[in-house]
Amino acid sequence: MNIDFDLLLDQAKSASEKAYAPYSGYKVGAALLCSDGTVFTGCNVENASYSLTICAERNAVFQAVAAGQRDFLALAIYVDGEVLFPPCGACRQVLAEFNPNLHILYANRLGSILSDLDTLLPQAFTLSEI
Ligand SMILES: [Zn+2]
Repeated sequence: MNIDFDLLLDQAKSASEKAYAPYSGYKVGAALLCSDGTVFTGCNVENASYSLTICAERNAVFQAVAAGQRDFLALAIYVDGEVLFPPCGACRQVLAEFNPNLHILYANRLGSILSDLDTLLPQAFTLSEI
């Protein structure tokens, strides 16, 4: 399947508009492409108890899994700002559970970087090789 990263990024941008980020000020959106072409989006949802905050990436993964999807091809992440964030460590680990080679595009207002999860999280924790 050809991956239309421009379209996926547009969907991540739209998702970022729904973010609830009164504390960090960083509105983040994620769009997760499944192998059947379905796209699930998520946004960050912050909380006054900071550790309860959920990132846009995990929000998208959990929505996809809840809908019965587990086969992911690519993820686009957009932060509405001028700082470029790759996915945090927690999100990398959650993504690696389903596809350790996931294509990941992360972007902000100024540009983007295309990478993959194997580069961002080499030797991810897994129970499958024990
Ligand atoms: Zn994260």
